[in-house]
Amino acid sequence: MKQDTRQLLRQLPKVDVLLQRPALAEWEQNLSRSLIKQAVQDVLAGLRRDILAERRRDVPAEDELDGMVLAYFRRQKSLRLKTVVNATGTILHTNLGRSVLSEEIGRHVGEIAASYSNLEYDLDEGRRGSRYAHLQSLLKELTGAEDVLVVNNNAAAVLLALTSMTQGKEVVISRGELVEIGGLFRIPDVIEASGGTIREVGTTNKTHLSDYSRAVGEGTGAIMKVHTSNYRIIGFSESVPAQELAELAHAKGLPLINDLGSGLFVDMRRFGLPYEPTVKEVLKQGCDVVMFSGDKLLGGPQAGIIVGKAEYIEPMKQHQLLRALRVDKMTLAALEATLQLYRDEDLAIRSIPALQMLARTQKECLRRADVLAQMLRTADAALQVQTVPVRDMVGGGSYPEYTLPGYAAAVASEGLTAAELERRLRHAEVPVVARVQQDWLCLSVRTLRDDEFPLICTEIAKAVAEG
Ligand SMILES: *Cc1c(COP(=O)(O)O)cnc(C)c1O
Repeated sequence: MKQDTRQLLRQLPKVDVLLQRPALAEWEQNLSRSLIKQAVQDVLAGLRRDILAERRRDVPAEDELDGMVLAYFRRQKSLRLKTVVNATGTILHTNLGRSVLSEEIGRHVGEIAASYSNLEYDLDEGRRGSRYAHLQSLLKELTGAEDVLVVNNNAAAVLLALTSMTQGKEVVISRGELVEIGGLFRIPDVIEASGGTIREVGTTNKTHLSDYSRAVGEGTGAIMKVHTSNYRIIGFSESVPAQELAELAHAKGLPLINDLGSGLFVDMRRFGLPYEPTVKEVLKQGCDVVMFSGDKLLGGPQAGIIVGKAEYIEPMKQHQLLRALRVDKMTLAALEATLQLYRDEDLAIRSIPALQMLARTQKECLRRADVLAQMLRTADAALQVQTVPVRDMVGGGSYPEYTLPGYAAAVASEGLTAAELERRLRHAEVPVVARVQQDWLCLSVRTLRDDEFPLICTEIAKAVAEG
């Protein structure tokens, strides 16, 4: 060890000496002595390592040491899971948490979480109740279903339904619907995991009713239909409508199971998207059990919703697997509040963030992009800012081949590549996630709240000044 290194190490204050610092004494009101001591030890150990590696050639002054311990506390306190600003224009961004709850519903969830609740308590009778009871009548009203059940997510809903209905039996399904949804959720694997056997029929692009009817036999437990969600067969293709499949299934004394993926309560043609039946319509077509996600186009919390005939859903309620897949109170709180909005479709579109974002016209996006652009120019006069048309996405595996015409505020800064600006914004105190297009950083306004505009301006000004 070099002479001056040894010298520096000797000059480092002792733990006990640092603990006497008035700045640290102040914190003792909020933090235990042992936590403070741990912080001081860790900071000193870090300094020792830096000095030994010759990354540091001086001993910090006492104020600087106070600051280092304070910074250490801040880092410790900061949580890994945090809010980010979604400027990508993808509404149901799977990596950014899929759908967003409204502020009001978020508050309600917080209240339920931070308080005791009647989760499993029947307030009328004064005895044990069921957590599943809270959503029964609302879901029945909205879907017209005879019975309903809610589990942790749609993957769990599919697993529970199949395990309960087709264990040890054959599930007849089209080859065009044996899809992988993402995150290793593959329909054939789920059928196998549930103890059923896949009986695939038809071809990748075309499946006819006769393919199904030929495959149905003694060992058949159900016919299954799966929404291909994030994948589409176009051109020379054909599939059998749910109504015809239901007639076939019922003629053979079998149920028709339909995994919808993104369940809809509103006709998406309202937003200029192609027609897809709502959950209510799908049930009317004769499907016996239908399942869908709470946090796709429904715009609620992560959940799997199962609706359909009581004769199939009642056994699921008794199934031991249900306990492993059950929803918690925060999910139930968010889902009930979200579903309640759907009793009035216009209210739902006004209040549910995913639907609000869908409803934004390109004209409205342009107006908001102009506002953001102007704010950015004011925040940093050196920035180059323009508004550009962009194609936004629904996301979450919905409408994969469809884009929504929107607008972005595009930012460039001299001497800084858009990729570098994008990287710095990702590391900001409140990370801003945005796309780079032709060396411009594009902030699509479709997925932004107005109250995020000032924050974005601050973070961009900071990011540009960083260099
Ligand atoms: C998204 C999706 C699932 C999985 O739903 P999660 O809520 O993500 O578990 C299952 N099936 C289909 C058809 C889907 O689109």
